[in-house]
Amino acid sequence: MREPMRRLIPSVPVLSLATFGGRGKPALPSLLDAGAVQLVTSGRIAIGMALRELGVGPGDMVLVPAYHSPSMIPPVHWRGATVVFYRIHPDTTPDLDDIARLLGPRVKAVMATHFFGFPQDLSALRALCDAHGIGLVEDCAHCFFGERNGVAVGAAGDYAIGSSMKFFPIFEGGCLVSRRHRLSGKLHGGGAGFEAKAALTALELAFAHGRLAPLRAALALPLKLKSAVWTHIKRRRASAATGTGTGIGTDAARPGPALAPASSDSSFEFDPRWVDKRSSWFSRAVLRLAGGARIVARRRRNYLALQRALAGAPGWRPLFATLPDGACPWVVPLLAAQPEALFARLEAAGVPMVRFGASLWPGVDAATCANSAALGRQLFGLPCHQELDDAERAWLAATVRAALDDLAGAPL
Ligand SMILES: *Cc1c(COP(=O)(O)O)cnc(C)c1O
Repeated sequence: MREPMRRLIPSVPVLSLATFGGRGKPALPSLLDAGAVQLVTSGRIAIGMALRELGVGPGDMVLVPAYHSPSMIPPVHWRGATVVFYRIHPDTTPDLDDIARLLGPRVKAVMATHFFGFPQDLSALRALCDAHGIGLVEDCAHCFFGERNGVAVGAAGDYAIGSSMKFFPIFEGGCLVSRRHRLSGKLHGGGAGFEAKAALTALELAFAHGRLAPLRAALALPLKLKSAVWTHIKRRRASAATGTGTGIGTDAARPGPALAPASSDSSFEFDPRWVDKRSSWFSRAVLRLAGGARIVARRRRNYLALQRALAGAPGWRPLFATLPDGACPWVVPLLAAQPEALFARLEAAGVPMVRFGASLWPGVDAATCANSAALGRQLFGLPCHQELDDAERAWLAATVRAALDDLAGAPL
């Protein structure tokens, strides 16, 4: 069999003309249907703001799943509170016995995550929180759309957060929503530099993946001007830094305020300067104009097609046996029988994947939660976002399948 040619597959949604097609009501409810919605610059900023709304402060404890994104932790520390990790079951649902064991007078809030876009039934956890007067923050970073047993995403939590960047072709964006409470904070704009950066970076990412070619031609000159201005700003900042004699001139971006949050660069940092900052005009426009129905339909279709294309290949199994009607997947979560060898092959072939949970917060290990450690070791998520075209999806399936077959044939 011929090796499929290497391609540059967008690991996250990128803008295309089709982004704005397929309007109409999504088949599933979304976080934006909640009564109170604030569009901010990232999911982690929304977590910090949710904890602030709940009155979490110094000395308090917040329970967080042992299986997590490290970006969920710094917002707790920003409030001056301590994180306590609770166990999850092999299917990623919270271990309620463990949560009950951890409850105490200092516990002020619990975070629960709908992993990979599969809405969980949080009614028992909700009841436990109610019985103890504890706030529930529903982490919908993987679950912008969805419902379970007629309960929409975000409806169980006192507050819910979303990571809009994971579902829409935008450079920055997160949301804080509530179906139960009003939101007390007031948002401010991020400034002209931030607005420009948010718009241009989203366009550049689209161009880099061969999308929006006519617009690319039209914008060639403005984008050149932009890089010239950027270089100029960075040089001025660098010289300002060396001028003060502090010797911190090595990082040109550091002395001035950041134009955009580091959360957009796949770091785990929490920068409090972005608390109460409104998402850019560009991101908000994309959220308003992008077809939710198309996002849900195409993600579900790509998920099922990828699973079907891998059926019968050795060395993998799906994390979830079925795709429920109420789910709009973030990625296709799969478990590898020989993770290290497979991931090395996939990386070499240029397959974009997320290894969610591969790096957990320092100190979280198999003793904290064996299921989380096992998932962190074995799990890989393949992109199934709405902006994958058919050829890209076919390449992805063929390349992963070739790697699995190759590995099964290789001597151990
Ligand atoms: C990505 C993620 C977050 C944080 O979202 P950002 O928009 O990256 O800040 C929170 N929780 C989970 C489970 C995530 O995967």
